[in-house]
Amino acid sequence: MEIILLGTGCPNVDPNRLGPSQLVVHPGATILIDCGSGVTQRMVAAGFTGRDLDAVFLTHLHSDHIVDLFQLISTSWQQGRDRPQKIFGPRGTKTYLEGLMELWRPELDLRKAHEARPSNVALDLEVTEFGSGEVWSQAGLTVEAVEVDHRPVRDAFGFVVSGSGERAVFSGDTTYCPALIQAARKADVLVHEVFIHREFKVIPGIRTAEGLANVQSYHTRSDVVGKVAAEAEVRGLILTHFVPTRFDKTALLEEVRRDFSGPLLIGEDLMRLDLTTGTLSYGGALLTMGSLWRSGART
Ligand SMILES: [Zn+2]
Ligand SMILES: [Zn+2]
Repeated sequence: MEIILLGTGCPNVDPNRLGPSQLVVHPGATILIDCGSGVTQRMVAAGFTGRDLDAVFLTHLHSDHIVDLFQLISTSWQQGRDRPQKIFGPRGTKTYLEGLMELWRPELDLRKAHEARPSNVALDLEVTEFGSGEVWSQAGLTVEAVEVDHRPVRDAFGFVVSGSGERAVFSGDTTYCPALIQAARKADVLVHEVFIHREFKVIPGIRTAEGLANVQSYHTRSDVVGKVAAEAEVRGLILTHFVPTRFDKTALLEEVRRDFSGPLLIGEDLMRLDLTTGTLSYGGALLTMGSLWRSGART
């Protein structure tokens, strides 16, 4: 199983960290988790297009996680996708997508008539709303949803993705959440959001103290995320969905390292971890971690 971080950012506009989204690639199944700003560009940069997706999973309906859904649907069609897009999301996803497609219907009708592509089936959506439990399975890859604590947002989920004896857990957006820790127990990797409280400041005219406290309350602070990974006894931890997107990386590593002693990565857009081979790649660099992070080598 390979995990590709497509976007590691948050609602901040940052050209180095685009909106949150991840690909999971397994023999016979390729899935997308969340659909943040810039997802289609990052997919192409990673060597994939909308043709390749077997299913899309949404953790919750916050804009930073879904804002490029129409872009994905539309460009998948232009990329020659020859099957409907399967989208799995929490309660409210059907209403959202019906409204989204209705808004674009006049533009799409014109475009379909004018571009005369061989197939328009990619513009058909198969939308499934899920609660906690197993959501989907294909070719030995299984996705299970775990309700997390992102209140006041309801219907927010993390995902446990399993296949070939490997298990990756994606937190979605959550504050400290015992149910997620339980679901992540002994996972090969936990891909977790982080709120770097030292770096998130009141900005006159932009961010109030009240707003700051509210945002912090539904994310996982950087002095807590290491405890989450340690309590879950995961093999390794990848941090993503950085709030804010620019921060002191050394200070963050030191902070998380106090609680978690396993492999720890500050995720970057287009970073890839192959759990099957224990290989990490980023830019032109390739690092083989051998038994340190190869699922079959667990002691
Ligand atoms: Zn978010
Ligand atoms: Zn959120």
